[in-house]
Amino acid sequence: MLVAPRHIELREEPMPAAQPGGVVVRVRAALTDGTDLKTYRRGHPKMPMPTRFGHEFSGDVAAVGEGVTEFAPGDPIMCVHTAPCGRCFWCRHAQEELCEHLLPAMLLGAYADLIAVPRRIVERNAFAKPLDVKYAEAAFLEPVACVVHSIAMLAPAAGSTVAVVGNGGFGILHALLLQRRGVDAMLFGRRPERLELARALGLQSVDVRTASMRDAILERTEGRGADAAIECTGSAEMWESAPSLVRRGGRVSFFAGLSSDARVSFLAARLHYDEVSLLAPFHFGPGDVRAAFELIAAHALPLSRLISHVYPLDRIATAFELLDEGAGLKVLIEP
Ligand SMILES: [Zn+2]
Repeated sequence: MLVAPRHIELREEPMPAAQPGGVVVRVRAALTDGTDLKTYRRGHPKMPMPTRFGHEFSGDVAAVGEGVTEFAPGDPIMCVHTAPCGRCFWCRHAQEELCEHLLPAMLLGAYADLIAVPRRIVERNAFAKPLDVKYAEAAFLEPVACVVHSIAMLAPAAGSTVAVVGNGGFGILHALLLQRRGVDAMLFGRRPERLELARALGLQSVDVRTASMRDAILERTEGRGADAAIECTGSAEMWESAPSLVRRGGRVSFFAGLSSDARVSFLAARLHYDEVSLLAPFHFGPGDVRAAFELIAAHALPLSRLISHVYPLDRIATAFELLDEGAGLKVLIEP
């Protein structure tokens, strides 16, 4: 339980019950990501403290609710923490990531031995984990789905040059998926261990401490600018400077969100006379989750390489202290 910002307490709770159509999952692997770190630092905007948290996980079915036929106790399972309703305006117009019931029904609490997964997620966004996929890899279903959705919205052409700004887990996942599509992905970042990891993964990794992003891109593109840029740092300054990285007619995709009261400004002439367009992909729909599942099942991404540390659940506070200090990439929590 997160009882206050930067204060985690381990608590014994009664065994959760499986709701009708839902399952209880014994968590075998849970991951940390930037959203969890933000929650740790300031609490979750939708969940008053004390709250459970953690949303990337996989495990084994421990119990099934009435009416569940797809899963049985003992089955390895992987899922995400949301599912759209399928009935609202946005669901009916193929924008399920904007479903009005998505976030109110979000499932948090992956940092636990057990988690109750509700019917909607079991029906729409849960899969049997293939036996040759590790639990830790299966726990990447949600972040991979986010990146699949982001790249589907941008739809970059093979051979185009795309700048990915920020080399955390999401920046690296973007670069890996872009590279699979035949895109020339340039990944920008500053932390030495992440630059090194990106290079070891065969990515074009540029150190922004020693090179200007804009100069590196201009050099790569005969002075034009990138065909697209994807903002993965979540800083307002980077949002504002991202349009300067793309060519005339280029596109900027703001993947990393800012706080709800943040404002950013852009040079209108750059957007208008240079036809620079802005996109802001959010979350994902069931089609993206299915595509992410297929990538993971096919071992298409070196996901285990993104895990920098492994801790048991009773050392989760240490895991977040480490992330809070700016160390590590994704931490694997194994209850
Ligand atoms: Zn809906």
